[in-house]
Amino acid sequence: MKTHTILMPLDMHLHLRDGVMLENVAPLTAFTYSGAIVMPNLVPPVDTLDAVKAYKERIMAAVPNDFFEPYMTLFYKNYDKEFLEHVADEITAVKLYPAGITTNSEGGVESFNIEEMRPTLQAMSDLGIPLCVHGETDGFVMDREAEFMSIYELLAKNFPDLKIIMEHITTKAAVDMLDKYPNLYATITVHHLLLTLDDVVGGMMMPHLFCKPIAKRPEDLDALLGLALEAHPKVMFGSDSAPHPQHKKESCGCAAGVFTAPISLQLLTEIFEQFGKLDNLQAFVSDNAQNIYGICPEFKEVTLEKRPFLVPENYAGVVPMYAGEVIGWAIESVD
Ligand SMILES: [Zn+2]
Repeated sequence: MKTHTILMPLDMHLHLRDGVMLENVAPLTAFTYSGAIVMPNLVPPVDTLDAVKAYKERIMAAVPNDFFEPYMTLFYKNYDKEFLEHVADEITAVKLYPAGITTNSEGGVESFNIEEMRPTLQAMSDLGIPLCVHGETDGFVMDREAEFMSIYELLAKNFPDLKIIMEHITTKAAVDMLDKYPNLYATITVHHLLLTLDDVVGGMMMPHLFCKPIAKRPEDLDALLGLALEAHPKVMFGSDSAPHPQHKKESCGCAAGVFTAPISLQLLTEIFEQFGKLDNLQAFVSDNAQNIYGICPEFKEVTLEKRPFLVPENYAGVVPMYAGEVIGWAIESVD
């Protein structure tokens, strides 16, 4: 039986939610991942030191038996330097949402006025706090990410020492942007390495594959695969696994988000094996992130086995990607 081992897998973009949902989904990630960047788009958003600490405690309480580090983030607003200095030890990054662009982002940035944002971003740059960005405009849905490229350029040029992470990139435009500025980095999800818009709405509409940013064209998929499979040193895996209760997905007004936490490592292994690039998976799913963020995760050794795995229909009321379908790799052991 063919196996493959990954050391200290990291998910650099994860939604754990709160309350019962947190309790249900956090153990699924903590089982196989050493750590994850936890996004702050709760209601209300995580934007104070107390909120960061309390949320981290709730996450740790939800995963009592696992070595798992939640790398906490702060919801971007204009903060003063004193506050950022105060909170720096408790957070790994600040996450910026354009207002109203995705789940619980209403309190995000309304307009990208660099001068209004300068004190905050310069302080983050000075303190070495990376900026994670949900890079979409409010334009036509297929063009939102490409339109945002000019804002990435503005940020990268104005704050050359600020690490800027283009989160969950989905387009060739973003792939082409990555090497234009030394301070730009990117995360890629597993579903955007598998799907185009055709898979979401080309036949029957598939609510469990609907997410923001929406999956794009075949040429975009190819560009993302190229970047991920070579494990470009500025690119990291970030699942953007985003659980919603089944009734919020299978309804009129389907919430955006694909739930991949329990199967992301298996799917990544399948993709990298298919393309003969298994040797690069370690860098994509851990080493690059350690270098970019300067983090040393808890030791974890995950061995996967090449055998059919039937994806469960749901995990505590949340339907995963590929529910009820068979994928090619399964988790064999976690040490
Ligand atoms: Zn996200």
